[in-house]
Amino acid sequence: MESCVFCRIASREIPARIVLDEPDLMAFEDLNPQAPVHILLIPKKHVPTTLALSADDDPLVGRLIRAAARLARERSVAEDGYRLVVNTNPAAGQSVYHLHVHLLGGRGMTWPPG
Ligand code: AMP
Ligand code: ZN
Repeated sequence: MESCVFCRIASREIPARIVLDEPDLMAFEDLNPQAPVHILLIPKKHVPTTLALSADDDPLVGRLIRAAARLARERSVAEDGYRLVVNTNPAAGQSVYHLHVHLLGGRGMTWPPG
């Protein structure tokens, strides 16, 4: 997916503040942070949305969530609490169609979300 911005970050064609680089996933700082800690975790392969996940991807999804928990601990937001968000399709506000998990922390979160 040559035009996909997150594929281009994964292949290091465009720069990002990368905080984790593993064989099948990557994490980097969000360009427009919505909390003191705002990291995006992506699979390196192009998956447009959660709707495109297959059973084969279950281990990958597990690794993404566990990597998020690890980063939350590293950034010292784990104990107070953090939020993982995966927007899917327009009504949820998805703007980049390459699956990503938002890790948000470092401030109180409201419920219900906007
Ligand atoms: P979503 O609205 O869930 O699709 O989230 C997309 C996120 O990607 C937004 O929070 C953007 O700020 C972020 N974003 C878009 N382009 C970049 C980029 N080049 N580097 C880092 N974050 C980005
Ligand atoms: Zn992509």
